[in-house]
Amino acid sequence: MASTILHGNGVVPGIGSGPVVRPRPRPEVPTDEDSLDPEAGAARFSEAASAVADRLATRAEHASGEGAEVLHATAALARDRGLVALVQKRLAEGMGICASTAGAVEELSTMFAAAGGLMAERVTDLEDIRDRVVAELTGQPEPGIPTPAVASVLCAVDLAPADTATLDPAAIVAIATSLGGATSHTTIIARQLGIPCVVGTEGLDDIAEGTTVLVDGATGEVVLDPDAGLVRERTEAATAIGAAAASWRSPGATSDGHAVDILANVQDGAGARKAAETQVQGVGLFRTELCFLDRDVEPTVEEQAAIYREVFEAMGDRKIVIRTLDAGSDKPLGFATIKDEPNPALGVRGMRLGLRDEGLMDRQLDAIALAAEGSAAPVWVMAPMVATEDEAAWFGAKVRERGLVPGVMIEIPSAALLADRILRHVDFVSIGTNDLSQYAFAADRMAPSLSELTDPWQPALLALIERVAQAGLEAGKPVGVCGEAAADPQLGCVLVGLGVSSLSSAASAAPLVGATLAGVSLEACRSAAQAALEAKDPAAAREAAAGLL
Ligand code: PEP
Ligand code: MG
Repeated sequence: MASTILHGNGVVPGIGSGPVVRPRPRPEVPTDEDSLDPEAGAARFSEAASAVADRLATRAEHASGEGAEVLHATAALARDRGLVALVQKRLAEGMGICASTAGAVEELSTMFAAAGGLMAERVTDLEDIRDRVVAELTGQPEPGIPTPAVASVLCAVDLAPADTATLDPAAIVAIATSLGGATSHTTIIARQLGIPCVVGTEGLDDIAEGTTVLVDGATGEVVLDPDAGLVRERTEAATAIGAAAASWRSPGATSDGHAVDILANVQDGAGARKAAETQVQGVGLFRTELCFLDRDVEPTVEEQAAIYREVFEAMGDRKIVIRTLDAGSDKPLGFATIKDEPNPALGVRGMRLGLRDEGLMDRQLDAIALAAEGSAAPVWVMAPMVATEDEAAWFGAKVRERGLVPGVMIEIPSAALLADRILRHVDFVSIGTNDLSQYAFAADRMAPSLSELTDPWQPALLALIERVAQAGLEAGKPVGVCGEAAADPQLGCVLVGLGVSSLSSAASAAPLVGATLAGVSLEACRSAAQAALEAKDPAAAREAAAGLL
């Protein structure tokens, strides 16, 4: 029987197959609980909490780095004696066991939040423990992303960056989501982790857990119950592409020697160390906000500096482009963003938060300067979501005061249109094609139904990029691309043909971009760029470019 094939948008090439697992929702706290003898109830709570702690500790043994630390710390908190005492107090007042658990966690969280600093940051862990213990007490599945015993495919509606902090690439061999597009954060996370991924997959939510699927991140297919021959064939094809990427050697250049920096997007020290194992020439985008998604309190300058230093040190003397906090919209930060904005993607996000609270920006720049002291890497600093020349001037002056190299991201059409004026105030720009397409097409980058509009091959987007690249050439200043467009090898060649001087993508994608570019001349890139600009839609642009590259 022929396998059923679902179609989505393949965003991270590669093959992964296995049974489907899904994130579990938060458990319901029952409203009709009986009251219990406080001693017996406390013993039941301790037993459930210790089962939860044991599972977290086992997962920690299979995780590494920060993920393992988070799991160990949460396991220890689940065994906290103070928590048991607070539960027992409520049981003695006649409350049910789940309501006592929820009440105890709330009281402890209030105390932690009032203490501030590192204690306040544990509130999220406490809430996680509450959900796991309530699930254990009521026989509901444990919430969050499971860590399966066999290699599995994670299927979800969509994934938030915070959901995936402890995602283990050894256990999750592919990701498929029903929402999300080429520029959504599920894509960015999957690419960062090098996990094959398909997003915007129609019909995915109807697939039962446990069904065997094959995810082909190059074609965008999710094949149900694939036969062994198909799995073998697809795996061999993916391996051949992997071999071409692995053979690439930096520095990046076209076949006729036109230099193009091939850089990596990273989000922390662990990611930077992984990137440093590849041939990339440095970091083209360090998304600092992703270091702080679980923080309710702003980290101190020293604490921030230590985190940034980890990335700088990992890259040795290779170049670093660090971005100031791009908080807001789909990346809210407890200590920075405004809550309940009616339209957060068009709200106070990115550098606008620094304009509103100058201290926030100053402290981050001080931390970057501190981390850069003694660093062998040249450190360039850029701001996200810059809309005007004045904003670029404001940021450029602050960065220069600290002896660093200033730049801004071009993600808003107003900035793309006046890139020449913006470049008077900064030394480089980097085009964020994910947001530039969202704002140019008035189309949510997260919406799969609009993914044709946010397709990075859209000729109008390419026209905006060309304008920025030409402004850079005239000013004699570098223009990079660090949005997901730079992860597509063929589109990377088109961007170079438009005049872009560096391409930054996830470390797992960058070598293939470098290898593809090394196989074509600058003239071919220019012809492909011209053909793509003149195409009527993204599909025609892809086809026209492919014919010339
Ligand atoms: C972009 O918008 O293209 C970009 C690189 O920033 P982010 O994806 O983090 O919004
Ligand atoms: Mg952006």
